[in-house]
Amino acid sequence: MVDSDVQRVQVKENIKFTPSLSEQRHKFVLDFVRKHKPQKVADLGCANCKLLWRLKYHESIEVLAGLDIDENILTRNIYRLHTGAGDYLDPRERPLTITLYHGSVVEKDPCLLGFDLITCIELIEHLEAKELAQFPEVLFGFFSPTTVIISTPNFEFNPLFSGKTLFRHPDHKFEWDRTQFQSWASDAARNYGYSVEFTGLGEPPPGAEAVGFCTQIGIFMKNKPNAQSLLNEKTVECTHTTVGTVIYPSLKEEKYLRKAVSNEVFSQILKMKRVLLESLKMKNDSDSGDECEFVKPKYNESKNDPFEETPKPFCIENVFYVPLERLFSFPKIKHLCGDLETLKMLIADEVTLSSDGSSVMINIVDEEDCDLSDNDGDDL
Ligand code: SAH
Repeated sequence: MVDSDVQRVQVKENIKFTPSLSEQRHKFVLDFVRKHKPQKVADLGCANCKLLWRLKYHESIEVLAGLDIDENILTRNIYRLHTGAGDYLDPRERPLTITLYHGSVVEKDPCLLGFDLITCIELIEHLEAKELAQFPEVLFGFFSPTTVIISTPNFEFNPLFSGKTLFRHPDHKFEWDRTQFQSWASDAARNYGYSVEFTGLGEPPPGAEAVGFCTQIGIFMKNKPNAQSLLNEKTVECTHTTVGTVIYPSLKEEKYLRKAVSNEVFSQILKMKRVLLESLKMKNDSDSGDECEFVKPKYNESKNDPFEETPKPFCIENVFYVPLERLFSFPKIKHLCGDLETLKMLIADEVTLSSDGSSVMINIVDEEDCDLSDNDGDDL
């Protein structure tokens, strides 16, 4: 493409990406995480922490770290990563710890060792020449994560933007064309035992395809994923300062698991009780004396239905008995507890169990204005 072609496209198009390129870059990382399920992820040059905030919703991730040289931006944005009431009401299955560090990406700090994925989104173009020269040794040689994603502007795309500045941001120390980026990335990959693939985001407009994507991306994979950093972590001092650490509640902690199971058990018992009370109100119409039909969990009725085979709830006088086996057949309770004994152990302090320990007992008349006086005491 010659310059005049670019000019013509520039006149025709006011380049705007929807969703914004910044969001597309984050989505690219999230898709990668969904596919590769890393447990430990670090974002270098994490700035306003938006990528970390999006990443914290991924179940596979147990450790998230953010690093930036600008301490103010971290202290202003750490609130995005704080826990909220929802995190306690519906805790994650796996633990999650998020830590923000203040420091430079060219410092060999052991806190960034052992990561499965390190992202550097629009970071390298902010590095001074000296820092850029040190960066591959620190990132690939020392941190040595299993995978790395690096994105940076594609300089060839710039003539399509209106405005006359050389680079896209005043703090950019350089912007590379595709050959420059690919040559730097390929050298780094070769020197430190990685393979690299290139892609990009932000399609050029029709007629300007030759300039390539607006953002260029290198995805690096370590050739020997189990190879450790060559340096012994104990030999290196910590230089980064911790701006904050947020620990999320998870079902791996017994107190949260206990709460989650109890909530689910109570919710199912209350549903059953509601059905019972309805049926008692209509009881006079029926003398069958059969057990009530209680709420069933939703699953495919055509499949073998374990719920049908579990003992049904029953009433003796004013006490409603819900067999643990029945509760355990609810998929969520089964998933949380794994086995009946664990269910019993987890709810033991929250409920009253029958003397043989097989059912949860609740009193029905305390809470509802319900006349059971003509109940004969047998199963309903
Ligand atoms: N990753 C962000 C944008 C990054 S802008 C996003 O996806 O939106 C570049 C960031 O790198 C800035 O926050 C800047 O403070 C940080 N930065 C620049 N030089 C750095 C260095 N040597 N070490 C750590 N962070 C650096």
